[in-house]
Amino acid sequence: MKKIITTSAGKPIYENEDSMTVGPRGPILLQDHHLLEKLAHFNRERIPDRVIHAKGSGAYGKFTVTHDISKYTRAKLFEKIGTECHVFARFSMTNSEKGSPDTDRDIRGLNFKFYTEEGNWDLMTSSFPVSYIKDAKMLPDLIHALRRDPQTNLKSPISMWDYLSLNPESLHLIMMLFTDRGTPYSYRFVNGYGVNTYSMVNAQGEYVWVKFHLKAMHGVRTFSASEAEYMRSRDLDWAQRDLVMALRSNDYPTWKLQIQVMNESQAKNFRWNPFDPTKVWPHNEYPLIDVGILEFTKLPENYFADVEQAAFSPDNVIDGIGFSPDRLLQGMAFMYSDANRYRLGPNYQQIPVNRPTCPVFNGQRDGVMAVNGNGGSSINYEPNSFNGHSTHKHHDKEAQYSIDSNILNTFHRNENDDDHYTQPRWFYNNVLKDSERQALIKNIIDTMRYIGGPKREEIIQRQLGHFYLVDKEFAHQIADGLSVDRIPEQEVEGNV
Ligand code: NDP
Repeated sequence: MKKIITTSAGKPIYENEDSMTVGPRGPILLQDHHLLEKLAHFNRERIPDRVIHAKGSGAYGKFTVTHDISKYTRAKLFEKIGTECHVFARFSMTNSEKGSPDTDRDIRGLNFKFYTEEGNWDLMTSSFPVSYIKDAKMLPDLIHALRRDPQTNLKSPISMWDYLSLNPESLHLIMMLFTDRGTPYSYRFVNGYGVNTYSMVNAQGEYVWVKFHLKAMHGVRTFSASEAEYMRSRDLDWAQRDLVMALRSNDYPTWKLQIQVMNESQAKNFRWNPFDPTKVWPHNEYPLIDVGILEFTKLPENYFADVEQAAFSPDNVIDGIGFSPDRLLQGMAFMYSDANRYRLGPNYQQIPVNRPTCPVFNGQRDGVMAVNGNGGSSINYEPNSFNGHSTHKHHDKEAQYSIDSNILNTFHRNENDDDHYTQPRWFYNNVLKDSERQALIKNIIDTMRYIGGPKREEIIQRQLGHFYLVDKEFAHQIADGLSVDRIPEQEVEGNV
């Protein structure tokens, strides 16, 4: 039997197309509440876009523990091999807007919400292991520089390269983003990297520092710049389509979760700041340790309900996983949950896709859209003599690392903090194949050539100076491609 259309209050509707009028040609009556409700709700269909990660896709699946890492963490999730956990994933473009092509050169975000019995854990990863910046204080400036010009409302290669050339810590990411990994075939063929450093604490209260990695089990697959450009003209939503087609044909996207682990003494002796998100921990010194498998099998029933309203934040960690002194992580842990409150309201954790599956008890009450019973009749202050709830007393809840510094109100550099070149040089010379180096050079030339205006020469030469410190020939080839002066020959130290 066909369902009867109703108002939102449930009253059956007998006319859904013609408005109620005075006679056959007369004006519309204000009492046609169905018309008013329909138009008013339509006006309110959009919620604020995410400022970053606006365009995305989502899927449900599960995580299965395959290896024992209980010596590092007491998280119940990792207690037993074979434990399964329901997971929601949102895959996104980082710096693109809602309607941007899925094949734009951009960092991809791969975010996972693990609905564990001890609360939700949001594992947030990017398609590259490093970030543009080290400190969250720089994030708004970075995003402004990468986005539209305030006057022309056009994306500006001038502001982008101006900002990046003034912040050489971005170099490592630039070197990766402009390889063909910057234009992945689709979300299924992207590796995810936690970028930031977290801590893990075991049952004895001992802690280690951890970086998360996800290896795409279908392998890494990319578009060349020209293939990506062709795809942009054919299908703006290719990555979403690829995900839908894969799920519908039971070709399930799968990732292997791995961690890198560093202990406190290794962290103290690491030749760079281990909490600097613009650097990696070399694989040969900090090998990847297998943890489990993520597999995605189901498209959400409703895109808006689950994908658009999904709200992730690095501050959603579970017992046994914690933070580190990574300045970018510390700022983002506030920024993401704050963005969620702005976009979805203070009760966003009550929306089904965000709701933990374990019991939630706290004194938070009221606010817009308190749809989850609002704590019912339970007492909303603590301590109290009635509910019998208390905080979970654990003297060693978090990683108990010591800080041996004073508070600083000016920027403080650790030794080697200005070495923005050693890791990119290693990447350029030892990781990339010759054909990948050629693609990187071509892709950089193809965006830098659009730097115009009175500062063109200054911006290009400044960025070429950074490229020169990575590799002379690399800088010269870019200079030649742009038909500008090469950087004059100079000595380059081993570690700059
Ligand atoms: P290795 O020399 O052991 O391995 C290099 C890694 O680079 C590969 O495992 C692969 O990571 C990744 N890679 C290959 N091609 C590209 C590309 N076009 N863009 C981005 N990543 C790519 O790595 P090390 O740990 O010794 O680090 C050496 C350099 O490799 C680093 O300075 C860094 O630039 C880069 N790198 C390191 C990563 C890490 O987490 N340690 C990860 C990615 C890059 P994967 O197998 O994860 O795809």
